[in-house]
Parts: sequence; C-alpha cells; structure tokens
Amino acid sequence: METAMGPGGEPVSPEEVERRMTEYRAIGFKHRSSAIAVYREESYSCPWPDCDYAIKGIDFCLDEMGGQDLVDRLLESWWQGPGLVGPCPHCRRPVLFRLSDKQTMDAASPEATTRLPDDWHAKSRIFGKDRTTR
Ligand SMILES: [Zn+2]
Repeated sequence: METAMGPGGEPVSPEEVERRMTEYRAIGFKHRSSAIAVYREESYSCPWPDCDYAIKGIDFCLDEMGGQDLVDRLLESWWQGPGLVGPCPHCRRPVLFRLSDKQTMDAASPEATTRLPDDWHAKSRIFGKDRTTR
C-alpha cells in the first residue's frame, strides 16, 4: 500500500483520495469516457484460485457490447457502480473488474445486475494477456 502524495509531495488524507476518486468517476461518467482499466503487477492474475490467466490492462470498448441501453448500464456500472462483471476468458468464472483491481464474484450475487456479454473479451482490447494477441 503506497501513500498518496499531493502536488508538493505531502501525504494526502484517505478522505481526500476518496473525494478525488469520486470526482474522477463523476467526470468520467459525465463525459462517457472509455472504460479502461490498468492493473498493477499484483493484480495481473485472475483473482480465482488455480487460475493464473494474466491481464495487464483492458479497454472494454463498451460501445461494441450491444445496444445503447446495455452500453449505458455498463458505463454507469463502471464509473458510478461496483465495476464490470464478466467471465474470466480462461476459467470462465465471474470476475468483477474494477478500475485498479479484480475481484472474484459469486455467480449468484444479486448486485451483479449489469453483466458484460460472455464474449466481452473478444470485443475488448486486452493488453498483456497471457496468450498471443489477435
Ligand atoms: Zn480465471
């Protein structure tokens, strides 16, 4: 866990970090910015046990995922909600992709209402994945 720094190198309080993230998310949502995740090394690997499928970054290309209604809900879930849920391209178990990390997701979890299509990984641009790029 690294300490966030202000412009002058002074530590920034967790509340301030949280405030800036909230602002960042609101601006991203308002401008319909692309859903792009960039992971740190400790978050490359699939979060499920016994799956080491690595993804270093994702441009979800949400506009490719379906109709406008679905795109809108995915965009909102990314910027204002918990993140995006989709199956791991390798083990197929549901993963919650967030801005800076990945979490395992219970397949029956009720809050996972907005899900990526099962073939999301064929429509997204995935960086540093653990197989040859298409
Ligand atoms: Zn996996």
